Amino acid sequence: MRGMVVAVVPAAGAGTRLGGTRPKQFLPLAGRPLLTRTLMVLEATPQVQAVVVVCPPGGEQETRRACVEPYGLAKVAAVVPGGAQRQDSVAAGVAAAAGLGAQWLVIHDAARPLAKPELFARVLEAAAQTGAAIAAVPAADTIKQAGPDDLAEATLDRSKLWLVQTPQVFERALLERALAQAAKDGYYATDEAGLVERLGEKVKLVMGSRDNLKVTTPEDLALAQGLIGAVTRVGQGYDAHRLVAGRRLILAGVELTHETGLLGHSDADVATHAVMDALLAAAGLGDIGQMFPDSDPAYAGADSIELLAQVVARLAQEGWRPRQVSLTLLAQRPKLAPHYPAMRAKLATALGLETGEVNLAASTTEGLGFVGREEGMAAWATAVIARS
Ligand code: MG
Repeated sequence: MRGMVVAVVPAAGAGTRLGGTRPKQFLPLAGRPLLTRTLMVLEATPQVQAVVVVCPPGGEQETRRACVEPYGLAKVAAVVPGGAQRQDSVAAGVAAAAGLGAQWLVIHDAARPLAKPELFARVLEAAAQTGAAIAAVPAADTIKQAGPDDLAEATLDRSKLWLVQTPQVFERALLERALAQAAKDGYYATDEAGLVERLGEKVKLVMGSRDNLKVTTPEDLALAQGLIGAVTRVGQGYDAHRLVAGRRLILAGVELTHETGLLGHSDADVATHAVMDALLAAAGLGDIGQMFPDSDPAYAGADSIELLAQVVARLAQEGWRPRQVSLTLLAQRPKLAPHYPAMRAKLATALGLETGEVNLAASTTEGLGFVGREEGMAAWATAVIARS
């Protein structure tokens, strides 16, 4: 596709059907504003070079502060005030996109946070052929036309019906012409393609996706939450520390009475260290050596449970939250099982999980190796994280 591609995201509606006092684009979806979720998809779509957000008049600053700035959305080039109707807002966004030098316009609903970058790519490719293309799905349900008193008036021929979504992609000059004609006629359509069809121009329907839902009701929000939270990743962590006299023995945040303790820069809590590494691995964030260097005096004698809370906060910045942790401790002595409830509770609190989502197991190595000789202890952890 030749020329600059700019996305216009109309987010100027009140969205009162979702309830609440704030416009729906600010409502949290899996921990981030709905609008932010949608902008994150555009950020991840390589073909889109810049984004114009259209917000309620006077809401420019709040939109930037709440939905754009905290999330590193580098493609958002402008936040402009919208108009009374969606079409007026799109026109305002198109004007701003023209100022950026757009050749192609991608109109995308703020309330469709689940559209995938591949869908944008498909619609853009089709638009390059015809000048206009939109995402849509064939109707799966039979559609009736209703008359007064909700009485069925007609059954429409389902084989010809498609349910229209966004993205909708247009050559800029074509959409500008369609908007100008509609403005002249005082005509309003419920989607931009409707305006282009009015000019007698071709609009190609491109297979969208059923999960590209438009968040309109509280049920939609719950459904979108479930779909986003279903994205999980797994990581593993391993750690070992030497046992020496004169040190406290702290495992999973619990101090045990024992004649030796683990040696390390921090409190040497080998169990918690393995959990931290598993979480960082799952999120693709390296390991605790990178996050809390041994060379940094700030971490001398550090409480590892506090460091774990910092790891959880770091994951949250990247949009992840712990879902489940499984920990296996390798220790010849002392017996650990009596301490499991306290250890699980400590870890669960730091992880923001229920105790049932944190499992502990321990194994002696039957006298084998450094663990068996009581020279040290080791821990393996597996963590599952989910999109927050
Ligand atoms: Mg360690």
